[in-house]
Amino acid sequence: MAAAEDCCVKVAVHVRPLIALEKLQGCNDCVSVLPGNPQVQIGSHSFTFDHVYGSTGSPAASMYDECVAPLVDGLFQGYNATVLAYGQTGSGKTYTMGTSLKDGCQTGLIPKVMNALFRKIESQKGDTEVQLHVSFIEIHKEEVRDLLDPSSSSKQETANGNAAKITTTGKPPIQIRETSNGVITLAGSTECSVKTLKEMADCLEQGSLSRATGSTNMNNQSRLHPGDPSASNRSDCMTEEYLCAKLHLVDLAGSERAKRTGSGGQRFKEGVHINKGLLALGNVISALGDDKKRKEGLHVPYRDSKLTRLLQDSLGGNSRTIMLACISPADINAEETLNTLKYANRAR
Ligand code: ADP
Ligand code: MG
Repeated sequence: MAAAEDCCVKVAVHVRPLIALEKLQGCNDCVSVLPGNPQVQIGSHSFTFDHVYGSTGSPAASMYDECVAPLVDGLFQGYNATVLAYGQTGSGKTYTMGTSLKDGCQTGLIPKVMNALFRKIESQKGDTEVQLHVSFIEIHKEEVRDLLDPSSSSKQETANGNAAKITTTGKPPIQIRETSNGVITLAGSTECSVKTLKEMADCLEQGSLSRATGSTNMNNQSRLHPGDPSASNRSDCMTEEYLCAKLHLVDLAGSERAKRTGSGGQRFKEGVHINKGLLALGNVISALGDDKKRKEGLHVPYRDSKLTRLLQDSLGGNSRTIMLACISPADINAEETLNTLKYANRAR
């Protein structure tokens, strides 16, 4: 058991059901999950992870309870945490995280996190004062955008409705900084102080509407102030010791785009940047998971991308990370599914 506790990165696989379009295309299910076994099989390949969720039962509820709830609890003890959704476009990342307003709003992980946070805060009322701050950002072509500040950039829609061009208006881009004690901050990003579930849900909705790409990072910070919340002198209260913890909820860019770099132009540049983030993430996580390398104090390449730099204080060390590898069961996606499983396997 101790070994599992020591491991700071856990990996789970979520196999979504065949969707209507895949059924229409006559796709067959090529992924099998053995009930009760954290194992997934595709063709002659078999992989074992910390958890595997198939489409039977209530995967969303168990996924939250087993993978995310311990991270939320850890926040209240001061542990930073990161939830990463990885997988090709269409594999169910946004659905799983719950950053889409269309679906996932009820079943996704983020709404469950929000509910749990407020339940926990409510249960601690009187003993501890908790301040909750939310930021919602997007990394697009190695630039950090503030999704809670519509003035920071504006999208221009193309005829087919895709956001094509991001025009930055005046406001300097968000800077990722590191304080002298290793805390990563996002200088210039909006940090909304949220006091109710409704206020937090509004932030999620506003940010989701401003998204341009599939790569988003919702970042929760909770500050816990032990002591008497009714203390008349706030500054007294503030000088008391307090805990500060961050939870990053990350809906990564589609993993297949990392390789689609042969098409030239805009697409090529985007591909290079996506590649950079996902490659760096893979390298960081694999370095963290390698006990031997960790003990030798091996360099963890956080600085190789904005994504890993941003997550630096929330991956590894004293923090907890869960990577959710999302896959489609359809045979037409078999190649990408295998790539995703290999990437996830490397993270273990
Ligand atoms: P991604 O964000 O990885 O590109 P999406 O979350 O947008 O993928 O999912 C692609 C499609 O599959 C959407 O139409 C979504 O509604 C559907 N889908 C994803 N996961 C599930 C699931 N667990 N159950 C039912 N439908 C799902
Ligand atoms: Mg998506």
